[in-house]
Amino acid sequence: MKPAGVRLTFCAWLLLGCLAGLAPAQERTNGFALADFLLVPLRVHLLTATNEPAVHTTLTSNDVTRILGKVNRVWMQAGLTFYLESLRVEPATNTTSFRETVKTNAGALMQLRPAASLSTNVFHVYYLKQFGPNGICIREINFVKDTASLRAVEGGIDEPLPRVTAHELGHALTLPHRQNVTNLLASGTTGTWLNEEEIKQVRASAKERSWVESAAAARQRAEQAQQRKQSAEARALLRRLASIPLTGREADSIKLLSVEPQKSP
Ligand SMILES: [Zn+2]
Repeated sequence: MKPAGVRLTFCAWLLLGCLAGLAPAQERTNGFALADFLLVPLRVHLLTATNEPAVHTTLTSNDVTRILGKVNRVWMQAGLTFYLESLRVEPATNTTSFRETVKTNAGALMQLRPAASLSTNVFHVYYLKQFGPNGICIREINFVKDTASLRAVEGGIDEPLPRVTAHELGHALTLPHRQNVTNLLASGTTGTWLNEEEIKQVRASAKERSWVESAAAARQRAEQAQQRKQSAEARALLRRLASIPLTGREADSIKLLSVEPQKSP
C-alpha cells in the first residue's frame, strides 16, 4: 500500500507542478505554445514632412519598440506575432494634395507613401500626425495618427497607439468590427479581447500568405542556418522568434541566442 501511496502523492505533485507552470501562459495565450505562433512581417514607416505639420510624426524608434511590444501582447491571444521587418523614417510624398483634400481621404493618404518602400509581402503601418479617424486600413496597408485618442474601458490597454495599431492590423487580417466595448474590434475604445471565431479567422488569413511563417518553421531554418555556419541568417531568424512575448526556458534561450555576441575590447 505504501509504495502506491507514495507514487500517487508524487504524481499529484507532478500534476500540480505542471498546472501551476502552465496556467498563467494558457490564460494569456489561449494555450498557444511557442511553436504554434505565426510570425508576420511588419514594415513600420515614420512619415516626415518639413512643410506639412499634419503629416510629420514626432514618434521615435523607441516609441515603435514600445508600441510593437504592446501590439504583440494583444495579439498573443491569437498566437500571432508581428516582427519588425524594417523601420523606415522617410519623407512623405504628395503632401500638398493631402493638405488640400479633406484629411479622411484614403486616396490622399495612399499618395503619401514613398515609392522606394512599397512592398507586397509585408503588412505596413504608416504613422503620421493628424487625419480624420484614429486609423485606416486599406488591405495590408494601415495608417495611424500619432495623436489618436480612445475611450477607456475596464480592462483596456493603457495607451491609444498600440490599441489603434493592433485594431487596424485586425482589419488587415480580415476582421470586421464587433461592437462590444471590451473587444479589440470595437470602434474607438481601449478594449483588446478577441473571441474564438476571430482567432480562427485571423490565423487562417495569416496562413494564406506565403510570407507568413510558423515559429516551428523559422526555428528549423535557424538551426539549419547555424549548421551551415551562417550565423547572421540564423540570428535574424532568432530575432523574429524573440519578438514572441512568451516567457519560459525555450523563449528565454531563443532571446539569448538572438543577441549578437559582443567582441572583447
Ligand atoms: Zn475599425
